Amino acid sequence: MEKYVVKFGGSSLADAGQFRKVADIIKADERRRYIVPSAPGKRSDDDTKVTDMLYACYEAVAGGADADSEFAPIAARFDGIIADLGLELDLSDEYNTIADNFRNQAGEDYAASRGEYLNGMILATYLGFTFIDAAKVVRFGSKKHGRPFDADLTNATLASVLKKEQYAVIPGFYGATPSGKIKTFSRGGSDFTGSIVARAVKADMYENWTDVSGFLAADPRIVDNPALISVITYRELRELSYMGATVLHEDAIFPVREAKIPINIRNTNAPNESGTMIVPTAPPDEVPPIITGIAGKKEFSVVSIDKDGMNNEIGFLRRILTLFEELDVNFEHIPTGIDTLCVVLESCELDKHPDITDRIKEVAGINHIVVESGLAMIAVVGRGMKEKRGTAARIFAALAHNHINARIIDQGSSELNVIIGVVEDEFDAAIRAIYDVFYEMA
Ligand code: ASP
Repeated sequence: MEKYVVKFGGSSLADAGQFRKVADIIKADERRRYIVPSAPGKRSDDDTKVTDMLYACYEAVAGGADADSEFAPIAARFDGIIADLGLELDLSDEYNTIADNFRNQAGEDYAASRGEYLNGMILATYLGFTFIDAAKVVRFGSKKHGRPFDADLTNATLASVLKKEQYAVIPGFYGATPSGKIKTFSRGGSDFTGSIVARAVKADMYENWTDVSGFLAADPRIVDNPALISVITYRELRELSYMGATVLHEDAIFPVREAKIPINIRNTNAPNESGTMIVPTAPPDEVPPIITGIAGKKEFSVVSIDKDGMNNEIGFLRRILTLFEELDVNFEHIPTGIDTLCVVLESCELDKHPDITDRIKEVAGINHIVVESGLAMIAVVGRGMKEKRGTAARIFAALAHNHINARIIDQGSSELNVIIGVVEDEFDAAIRAIYDVFYEMA
């Protein structure tokens, strides 16, 4: 039988009503065998996520507050779900252990992880699935080595434990070191847990259920009612990383991508919608839209370096890039001309080194460089661009019609994306213009 790993975000498990939707989804398809839950999220805009309550509780206890009374509202949240679902489950021993461990300063990661741990227990009971504590199967290295995530050991451990389980719940977000110390991934890390479980069991699909129906072709705060992306490749998604990690944790892509497992982003509140499918390679017979998505970000700067004869000077680029590496400055793009080199980077990277221009002048052997800030970068991404004449013409005509000047243009030879830099004031208008020409006028 095929296997699906199914991850539910915090909003999908915020209360008993959401638990019921989740159980209906799982029971509707017997391939949904390995379930990865987050901690309960917000029930309304002014609510607090359980993970945030746990961090605050731990801090209060560290500051001298009483652990039992600080933990009581968190316990009440879980008990509310248990009671509403009519479960015979008493977690009071667990609550006492957690309060004790808070008193004994078990660590912030331990504290935060208890949301997924307790929610996983409730979900496993409700579904009648085996509960597997992530501390036993998601492995981090020892303190001596800085406790890094151990991908190989985790993969082997998860594979051997889950081989024996037909149906199981594995809480997201955390794991443990060899000495049993709990470590969490970065915020939103349950997506990553889902991905490593999917790789370990060689899943046919990684379903990631959240509160939106997938990725949109543009930011809905800029474009009115943008189209939903139905299929996107892993490479395209990476190129659209300016979208930020609002739907899916960035790291979650890599384990499943390596194993060529598709991810399906689905909406717990609209389970009949097919969502966005993230695939290793697009179906061979498809006719994709020319543009899959448009994403952008403000607060970029460009450092323009001019030097006569640069194109004949062997090692020039290396010297500049070595300097950036030494200064630990991350850059995004390096469009070049014959005698010019531009380094495009987030403005905050430059702020780290106020003397960076002097350092560049030294290594480049020039005395004039220009830094321009206040730029926005826009990635126009689509596998449908390949060998399609006129795509760039349409993009730039749309910008020209809207009186927008493209300050930077960069297209890789893979023809998967065009990167455009505009001044920040023209950012929204540029995205709308490009979106309209491919989606509204198509
Ligand atoms: N509960 C954790 C957080 O709020 C992890 C997750 O939801 O993925 O970041």
